[in-house]
Amino acid sequence: MTTSSVTRSAPDWPAAAPGTPARGHCRFCGEPLRHTVVDLGMSPLCESYVSAERLNEMEPFYPLHVWVCDRCFLVQLEEYVSGEAIFTDYAYFSSYSDSWLDHSRRYVDQMIAQLGLTARSHVVEVASNDGYLLQYFVARGVPVLGVEPAANVAKVAEEKGIPTLVKFFGRSTAREMVAEGRRADLILGNNVLAQVHDVNDFVAGMKLLLAPRGTITIEFPHLERMVAENEFDTIYHEHFSYFSLYSAERIFAAHGLTLFDVEELTTHGGSLRIYARHAEETDRALTRRFHALRDRELAGGVNTLLYYEAFEERVRETKRQLLEFLIRARREGKRVVGYGAPGKGNTLLNYCGIRADFVDFTVDRSPHKQGKFLPGTHIPILHPDRLREARPDYVLILPWNLKDEITAQLAYIREWGGRCVVPIPETTVLP
Ligand SMILES: [Zn+2]
Repeated sequence: MTTSSVTRSAPDWPAAAPGTPARGHCRFCGEPLRHTVVDLGMSPLCESYVSAERLNEMEPFYPLHVWVCDRCFLVQLEEYVSGEAIFTDYAYFSSYSDSWLDHSRRYVDQMIAQLGLTARSHVVEVASNDGYLLQYFVARGVPVLGVEPAANVAKVAEEKGIPTLVKFFGRSTAREMVAEGRRADLILGNNVLAQVHDVNDFVAGMKLLLAPRGTITIEFPHLERMVAENEFDTIYHEHFSYFSLYSAERIFAAHGLTLFDVEELTTHGGSLRIYARHAEETDRALTRRFHALRDRELAGGVNTLLYYEAFEERVRETKRQLLEFLIRARREGKRVVGYGAPGKGNTLLNYCGIRADFVDFTVDRSPHKQGKFLPGTHIPILHPDRLREARPDYVLILPWNLKDEITAQLAYIREWGGRCVVPIPETTVLP
């Protein structure tokens, strides 16, 4: 395809491939995948924490190979593991990060004001997790329904009084909801679009569920930030797709939804919140900031293969830097421990080959992770109190996107001269 036809002429945009995505083909448009963005080798599923009893068992490793489609420029992994296998017993509980809860509360206030939501409105969150966000709508009297495939996580939401449907979202779930008389004035999905294998089924489901003048907001890590800030550790098997505004706009358009606004957020190393409406509704025009971001992405070359070519070498250099730092620290007899056990940490540690030989242990506030071991690397996950006992020289912050929050919590390590280190975009010992 030519790159000049893309800004306005919707008729030239790729159509959704029919049926479920075929292996080796773009999950949106069906074109064969021919171009590598980065190959991170073999890695275990990043949320499959290992219990002590299972330490001697085999762990499945899968390729972590990122491709870009040369037709629609969707950056993606192939599906090596089914979504069902990943998400039905998902260990990630959203409520364990203060800044994420704060982000969610502010979003709810903003949406209630902006869309005029009341006790007669209906809000649906797809991948509602433990009710971390919907609880704020409930507190303000706005009716909600969560859709969450992980039964263990959905149960926590129900216990908090947040009605939750234990299902994967797509056309068939949307049809069931509509048949029960539910249409959504607001559909939201935070960090779920990237985790959907059949992106066409998911977006088509939102089209079905959305009330005639309803609004969709979706947040996802912004591909532009990942490339610019070298955030390769946000790549993991659970993230099938890596969206630019460019690719997202095409996918929504193929399903009769128009993106009309976008916000740039600092969450997850730089995310977008896109706003969509029915294509048939024409009185909400595209905002100035939407045009500005679209133009910026195109000026950067997001719809050219050249844009993706330099990424892999930067990733390799990041690995060399981090290993150099760790080798030097350990040779000098310094003690290094980790902070956090996020998915991104597991991509980083497995790709770099960092085990307990470099990082003695890591700590995490989530009791669901404490006492377990990181997948692949088998670094033990302990309670945060253990940091004070160990008095490490360096604390490697794995969820670097929360580094301000974490360094504030860890101010006490300065008592014994400890320092925090972030690995991304490059290894940096924080002042
Ligand atoms: Zn494609």
